[in-house]
Amino acid sequence: MKEVKYLIIGGGISGLTFANYIDDSYLIVEKEKEVGGYCRTIKKGDFIWDYAGHFFHFKTEEFKNLFQKSINKDEIVYQDKCTKIMYKDKLIDYPFQTNIHQLDKEEFIECLYDLFNKNEKEEYDDFLDMLYGKFGKSIVEKFLKPYNEKLYACNLHNLDKDAMGRFFPYADLKAIINNMKNNNDTSYNNSFLYPKNGAGSFINVLYRKLDKNKILLNTEITQINIKNKTVILKNGNIIKYKYLINTSPFNKFLTLTDNKEYHNLSNELSYNKVLVFNLGFNKKSKYVNEHWMYIPDKNINFYRIGFYDNILNGSKLSMYIEIGYDKNAKIDIEKQLEETLKNLLKLGIIDESMKLEEYSTIIMNPAYVHINNKNDIDVKKCMKELNNHDIYSIGRYGGWTYCSMEDCMIEAKNLAKKIK
Ligand SMILES: Cc1cc2nc3c(=O)[nH]c(=O)nc-3n(C[C@H](O)[C@H](O)[C@H](O)COP(=O)(O)OP(=O)(O)OC[C@H]3O[C@@H](n4cnc5c(N)ncnc54)[C@H](O)[C@@H]3O)c2cc1C
Repeated sequence: MKEVKYLIIGGGISGLTFANYIDDSYLIVEKEKEVGGYCRTIKKGDFIWDYAGHFFHFKTEEFKNLFQKSINKDEIVYQDKCTKIMYKDKLIDYPFQTNIHQLDKEEFIECLYDLFNKNEKEEYDDFLDMLYGKFGKSIVEKFLKPYNEKLYACNLHNLDKDAMGRFFPYADLKAIINNMKNNNDTSYNNSFLYPKNGAGSFINVLYRKLDKNKILLNTEITQINIKNKTVILKNGNIIKYKYLINTSPFNKFLTLTDNKEYHNLSNELSYNKVLVFNLGFNKKSKYVNEHWMYIPDKNINFYRIGFYDNILNGSKLSMYIEIGYDKNAKIDIEKQLEETLKNLLKLGIIDESMKLEEYSTIIMNPAYVHINNKNDIDVKKCMKELNNHDIYSIGRYGGWTYCSMEDCMIEAKNLAKKIK
């Protein structure tokens, strides 16, 4: 039986960062044939794609410097984001709530009237309740509700009021009115960095520094014995650990343990999955400036689309399309692709003369965790119990949360420092 001090489940950005900050007795076990998890990059013909867009908006100098020092200067693009909402037959700036003055007069007045007369509360029961209380009926029903229902694929009453944390663009009446004259985008991602060769370039930076003998690819953990501190691999081998660092999705991780209560908790956890199409066409769209767009219209199958070619100054339309699903939904990929192409045509993003040259399909499962009070308490309690057995579950999915790539790196680094 192999023994190791730090056993890391998953070679995504969290697992790789942890390994970069811990001493040398670690082992990463990764079920796929390559590292990177959701930050991998796909190359097909003339096109370079991520698993949906993966853009870097650093809040720490440490990781920003690492990114800038490790990737060639001329291979990084710096962008001030240009993001739009396709609302009826208009493009308006994102976020909707601070750009209602760009709507037609009648709709603008409705939004402003409801915003002014909203029923603000001290405490909100859930996400939808918070939206109505902070923004009023019209802003909610014209954009925030349909868009987020398409994204999360759930009833928004089932999400916690802070389900999106710092990623939600809050704005009060004063900020909304001020934005009518002075555009003042203060969102977390108003500018971003992106490697010309995709997000996977940064994964390579983290991977390069590690000892490849300490990374097992194509190796899946299928059982965890919490008391004995052992895991069983799909090939039957057993590994004993002192510390177990999990970065795989927490719901699936729980089912690998020998604790029946954890299996029950796993069944209760709610999340969506996202079907991503990366599409490469033979020429550019008429939309040449937009980096990504939000689509609240429920008659259109996708909720968000992005334009790699506009970010990288490419000569052919290279885009990602995101479609949200309930965790139990069956996905008919062919039907969705057909519908996507029809809708792109209908919205005028492509025209009849444009030919699809390449495409790829990815299902992100889970994609967005549904954060709600009850699950949050149970998850935290469970994680605390696991900590007592030297098991730490981190990252966006291991930590069962909503966070960025950099947040995952910060958490992994802090944990490595804490238990080293
Ligand atoms: C649609 C979408 C768009 C996003 N866009 C951005 C963005 O623009 N910017 C940003 O900062 N963040 C973005 N994110 C978030 C980002 O993807 C995550 O924060 C980050 O990838 C999480 O990394 P991780 O290492 O924690 O998990 P993962 O990348 O999921 O890595 C977990 C690894 O564990 C492996 N694994 C799972 N089970 C097992 C097992 N049993 N045995 C062995 N290995 C196993 C998996 O194969 C995987 O490699 C986006 C997320 C989504 C869903």
